[in-house]
Amino acid sequence: MIGAIFEGLRTTFKQMFRKPITVEYPDIKRPVFERFRGRHELKRHPNGLERCIGCSLCAAACPADAIFVEPAENTDEERYSPGERYAKRYEINMLRCIFCGFCEEACPVDAIVLEHNYEISSYTRKAMIYTKEMLLVPPPPGVPGTPQKGPAPRPQDMPHPVHNPQRVDRVPPGGFVTTYVPTSLLDEYDLTPDVVLHPVPDPEDDENAEG
Ligand code: SF4
Ligand code: SF4
Repeated sequence: MIGAIFEGLRTTFKQMFRKPITVEYPDIKRPVFERFRGRHELKRHPNGLERCIGCSLCAAACPADAIFVEPAENTDEERYSPGERYAKRYEINMLRCIFCGFCEEACPVDAIVLEHNYEISSYTRKAMIYTKEMLLVPPPPGVPGTPQKGPAPRPQDMPHPVHNPQRVDRVPPGGFVTTYVPTSLLDEYDLTPDVVLHPVPDPEDDENAEG
């Protein structure tokens, strides 16, 4: 009996001086892998116009029937997108979504992107219907949002559709990803503002450890 108590205490003290392998979620978020598919975002062009042209191809491709698109015509007085049409209503039922990414693949203009945010829980079913207002990213700093005035820009005048320019957490060949931490924790964790680097565990190391 006494021996078991001392054995338990020995295990406790041994762990106390080891580096923790857990993270303090939600203050610190585990980085996800590059191809992780999380919460959707509707992207904009760098000039503030919405990428979505209301074509409904994403809704047609969705195997869960989770997307609803109501298109409307752009005018020179009220322009939302470079195309003839834009999405007047765009909704995703996140309770139906299976995060397959088919909508992202089907979109001809890289408008809908499954990003790396996985915090999408809610207390009500209604709150899980994500509207266009919830999905559309804000315009770049110093750029007007939509609607804008003016004719449709010529396709050759639009910036090259760089896939997902806002994303900063790409995995470079060195095997690192970036993630965000609150400023209040920067000193404690000795990290740079806004973006920090975390090494991604090498899968081969895990296999070796298990083996
Ligand atoms: S990720 Fe898949 S299930 Fe979810 S909205 Fe897109 S196509 Fe539909
Ligand atoms: S997100 Fe893409 S596929 Fe869906 S309606 Fe908009 S432009 Fe079309």
